Amino acid sequence: MYRTHTCGELTIKNIGQQVTLCGWLQRSRDLGGMTFIDLRDRYGITQLAFNMETNAELCEKARRLGREYVIQATGTVIERASKNPKLSTGDIEIEVSQLVVLNESKTPPFTIEDNSDGGDDLRMRYRYLDIRRAPVRRNLELRHRMAMLTRNYLSNDGFLEVETPMLIKSTPEGARDFVVPSRMNPGEFYALPQSPQQYKQLLMVAGLDRYFQIVRCFRDEDLRADRQPEFTQIDCEMSFVEQEDVLRTFEGLAKHLFHEVKGLDFDQFPRMTWHDAMRLYGSDKPDIRFGMQFVELNDVAKGCGFSLFDNAELVVGINATGCADYTRKQLDALTDFVKRPQVGAGGLVYIKYNADGSFKSSVDKFYTPEQLKTIADKFGAQPGDLMLILCGPAMKTRVQLSALRLEMGDRLDLRHPDVYAPLWVIDFPLLEWDEETQRYYAMHHPFTAPKPEDEPLLDDPARWGDIRANAYDIVINGVEVGGGSIRIHDRTLQNKMFHTLGFTDQSAAAQFGFLMDAFTYGAPPHAGLAFGFDRLCSLFGGADSIRDFIAFPKNNSGRDVMSGSPAPIAPEQLDELQLTLRPQG
Ligand code: ASP
Repeated sequence: MYRTHTCGELTIKNIGQQVTLCGWLQRSRDLGGMTFIDLRDRYGITQLAFNMETNAELCEKARRLGREYVIQATGTVIERASKNPKLSTGDIEIEVSQLVVLNESKTPPFTIEDNSDGGDDLRMRYRYLDIRRAPVRRNLELRHRMAMLTRNYLSNDGFLEVETPMLIKSTPEGARDFVVPSRMNPGEFYALPQSPQQYKQLLMVAGLDRYFQIVRCFRDEDLRADRQPEFTQIDCEMSFVEQEDVLRTFEGLAKHLFHEVKGLDFDQFPRMTWHDAMRLYGSDKPDIRFGMQFVELNDVAKGCGFSLFDNAELVVGINATGCADYTRKQLDALTDFVKRPQVGAGGLVYIKYNADGSFKSSVDKFYTPEQLKTIADKFGAQPGDLMLILCGPAMKTRVQLSALRLEMGDRLDLRHPDVYAPLWVIDFPLLEWDEETQRYYAMHHPFTAPKPEDEPLLDDPARWGDIRANAYDIVINGVEVGGGSIRIHDRTLQNKMFHTLGFTDQSAAAQFGFLMDAFTYGAPPHAGLAFGFDRLCSLFGGADSIRDFIAFPKNNSGRDVMSGSPAPIAPEQLDELQLTLRPQG
């Protein structure tokens, strides 16, 4: 037997016991006649004590051990002279009588402590050492717990976990596919699933009724902090359901996770139409931890001779409560913020509603105090407030103001990671116009059903932009954590949709033929949703990056710097696949 206990479990109750522990040497300290070692494993840290006076040989041996040596120590549990209230084992230490080195270690390239001295790159290169650190380990523990809770919850609700293939024919989810050449079928390729979308719909045709899978998905997109080329979804599909059933089911799952993991209970999640989300927050994933809703000002701000406003499609602003005392410098910083290329506004108009009731604004030349008061009233502003206004093309301006709103939320400390504000965004547009290619794309995916009352608009290309989908997203704290839709199960409607998206009969058949065929054998009405599991974990863990919740993540260029992938393959492998590479350069 290697050990009798772990390094996280001995307390004052164990005093006097003879124990054996195994773990890694985190740190050792020589204090006069004593040597102390912090021994670490997954469960915690226990202090080992060696006494020069009573056992010089053993103490000398302990002093020769380096950081991250793997050791086995046997001894007696004794009460510590100076206790450490920060450790669960902080009341005791082990008076060691026997010490075995199970393995040596090179000096690790960074300190394996909660606050490491290692930079991001270095820690990723030696991720197996990074994972030894408690904060990373705790993130993986949280992830495990959330996966187990999810599995149990859905299983108890009648969902079956079914695995779907990883080597598939391309599934369009709006991103680029990763492809895998087939050796047995030269010149042909598999795609890695962007999601199991078509398979889960087939499982509904197959009569499984309720499916889920905690599943890896692959999308070849440009990366950001909250994106990875491979990521995990809680993927679900249900038959004979309406939107209401789906929202209730997965709201139930979200509430269960909140309750179990965070001890938080929620009433029904608010629901907001996509249209309102854009109008009031300029975002389809509004952070509703704080208000600061948009106020549209066309009726009060136009027609006063300020041409920038007069010529704009939309004049819209937010009211920052209590910020009238912002200095010139602070206002300049906000102007610089909205002018950054990432935000892209031309400028920022401010109106200070001073505490004494007077106004000071960047447009004083064009507006009388009475007119400014009318604008302030429209905002519901009080003396002491600061109004921030943008103008321009409607949608673009809303998106810019959304960035400013979030920035103000940060500045005013209104976005606390411990506060959770979930909501459903519903009634997304079915189709999205793409300027570059001058055509419509499915906003969600081509299997999403329009709202029945909007279906006739499919016959009128001029109205395509107005068609609403039976599609929904679950949003928490400004993060889209999941989304799904009611699917089209009617072949005629699906064909119409394909045509709207610019597919010919042949190209639709080539891409989706097997799903369309299946639909001719009695497809039940069905709907589904997928949660981004990595994001959900990072949100529950109070972190910004999903990388912290993935054991072996990729960096910003999609590389695994630890294993060194992607990497060239041997010429023989290329030959076997009958592939030739174009010369580089
Ligand atoms: N397959 C969709 C996605 O990955 C989710 C769904 O519609 O169920 O976003």
